[in-house]
Amino acid sequence: MGIGPKFAEKLKAVGIVTAADLLRYFPYRFEDFSKPLPISSLRFGRPTVINAEVVQASNERSPRRRMVITKVLLKDISGSITAIWFNQPYLLRQLKPGSRFLFAGKMVTERNGGKAFQVSTIEREAKIFPVYHESTGLTSKWLRNFIAKVIDTAQLIAETLPKNILSERKLPPLADAIRAIHQPKSAEQLAAGRRRLGIEELLPIMLRSMELRRQLSTAIAPQITIDEPLLKQFVEGLAFKLTDDQRKSAWQIIKDLAKPVPMNRLLQGEVGSGKTVVAAMAALLVSRSGYQSLWLAPTEILANQHYRNVSQLLERFGLSVGLWTAGTKVKLDADLVIGTHALLRENLTFPKLAAVIVDEQHRFGVKQRSRLRAATTNQLIPHFLSMTATPIPRTLFLTIWGDLDLTLIREMPAQRKPVITRLIEPAKRQQTYQFVREQVSQGRQVFVIVPIIGELNGSKAQKLKKTLFAELERKSAIKEYQKLSKEIFPDLKIGLLHGRMSSKQKNKVMQDFDRHKLDILVSTAVVEVGIDVANAAVMMIEGAERFGLAQLHQLRGRVGRAEHQSFCLLMPESDEALEHRRLSAMVKTNSGLELAEYDLHYRGPGELLGTRQHGLPDFQMASLTDSRLIEEAQSIAKQVFEYGLEKLPELNKKLEHFEQVEHLE
Ligand code: ADP
Ligand code: MG
Repeated sequence: MGIGPKFAEKLKAVGIVTAADLLRYFPYRFEDFSKPLPISSLRFGRPTVINAEVVQASNERSPRRRMVITKVLLKDISGSITAIWFNQPYLLRQLKPGSRFLFAGKMVTERNGGKAFQVSTIEREAKIFPVYHESTGLTSKWLRNFIAKVIDTAQLIAETLPKNILSERKLPPLADAIRAIHQPKSAEQLAAGRRRLGIEELLPIMLRSMELRRQLSTAIAPQITIDEPLLKQFVEGLAFKLTDDQRKSAWQIIKDLAKPVPMNRLLQGEVGSGKTVVAAMAALLVSRSGYQSLWLAPTEILANQHYRNVSQLLERFGLSVGLWTAGTKVKLDADLVIGTHALLRENLTFPKLAAVIVDEQHRFGVKQRSRLRAATTNQLIPHFLSMTATPIPRTLFLTIWGDLDLTLIREMPAQRKPVITRLIEPAKRQQTYQFVREQVSQGRQVFVIVPIIGELNGSKAQKLKKTLFAELERKSAIKEYQKLSKEIFPDLKIGLLHGRMSSKQKNKVMQDFDRHKLDILVSTAVVEVGIDVANAAVMMIEGAERFGLAQLHQLRGRVGRAEHQSFCLLMPESDEALEHRRLSAMVKTNSGLELAEYDLHYRGPGELLGTRQHGLPDFQMASLTDSRLIEEAQSIAKQVFEYGLEKLPELNKKLEHFEQVEHLE
């Protein structure tokens, strides 16, 4: 590309080898110098661009002599202002009296109380400048110049979309969009370019979902008979009345099961909304039709809990229920086998498999699906039902789960009182223990969650070996357990649960808690999902600032599952954490959807869904909170899909590349 080896090396470090790579190295933000404002419009703290003439310029030592301050008097027809820079004395060479520049900066108060314009960037031209990631020692200025040299090769970039779609949607061709990103001529042109490139990023994911949907629609699944008298009997035998949403959801699922094409459905409902019983109805019908179901849970504790509860619901209808966990393996030929996700890694066969129910995992990859097909001997593709309490903002759903049909349980069972969440100052700890004691004396039970060790997200936690991590958590759980049982509540019955206990031990503790043999359960976040103990009314979370929002919300969902007023007590480690955005969000709302949207906005889908699960590529241009963009991309994807992907070789290539990288598995 006609550059020295030093730059070539730096470019290579960020994956740029060819001119085409360089053009794909998009800016992450823009500085708009195209519409400068008059000096008279400057306001404190507001970033502004002005176009002004240098009147006089000088360097001064700061009073404490540690800094050089460059002071430049600037004027335009509206007025004048002193601009300042710190420790850049060489600027004087450029800022000659009489010269004109554009200055970006904001007005600040000086130490002596006067106003000054603190400048961040100087430019010569009134236009929009792209700003690139500079972490590699390549400056934005250098990249702009270098990209300018190769920008004409953008015309060689093959168009992916048909002309009629472009003109209909008023979208610029890909080549123009790329040019506009690097050399925007106007804010409008830039916006159109970003929109086009955002859509370009979203299309492969959406098209892939559509392709999956198409494939499933031509596959054959076992047809399950709708036995209405049996359903009626089941519903009448329940200890409670189903909510309308439970009824509707169950019916949607049952209708899907009756079709000869595989169901692919996500059942989403707030924690405690009663998804289990809905899925149990599906398993009941499947067995009545002579087939088997698998029910997968994310943890062993949860698999055991489902085993206990679901057996109780279904065994009186003659169903046999099996269990497959690391600790226990019984009746693998049962009508319903409940297990952990690890079950899929085994080479087990389920000759009559017709339905797979997956708890708390959103997506079932193509690989997992084909493994299951191999596990059946009837060549039929099983129906698939996924359940989640993680509310998924619509934009995210359209992007990632376009292949799934969605069923929502919006309504909570009657008599439930919303959980009261309190953020507790460290100084109020003793009062809080007193409160816990009162709750216990009223017959309630309490969870105490010990904080996650170290950083929750990011590579730090991943680097820590998993076992080491679990070991640290075990130690802190034991410490908390000892503190509570020896010092704080020596008279109460306290249990301990952590990830390093054997499954037998874990089960025993969970069972004791469930049967109210324990007042307080000290636990690591292993209780996070799904645990259901109706009498638990207090969730006390130590080191609350260390948890992610989704996790906090899940933990809160462990209480408030019956008629008692329940409480979630967030116990941050320091006073500073009282200002924590996530914690205030928890206090402000009980709505999982609001929290999810908040998380998506502030921290991206990785936090919301768990990095391991979301499998999204890194977007440079698309924003998953931009519902207009997502909906437009979705609609274009549909159009393209109907038009025929095979007629669009360039787009097809992108899709193949996307699949090779194996996103979303
Ligand atoms: P989740 O949707 O979080 O999985 P569960 O299925 O575990 O919720 O249900 C939570 C609790 O609510 C369970 O104890 C269950 O028996 C109970 N439950 C389910 N549906 C109802 C209902 N319609 N009325 C009252 N209680 C219900
Ligand atoms: Mg559940």
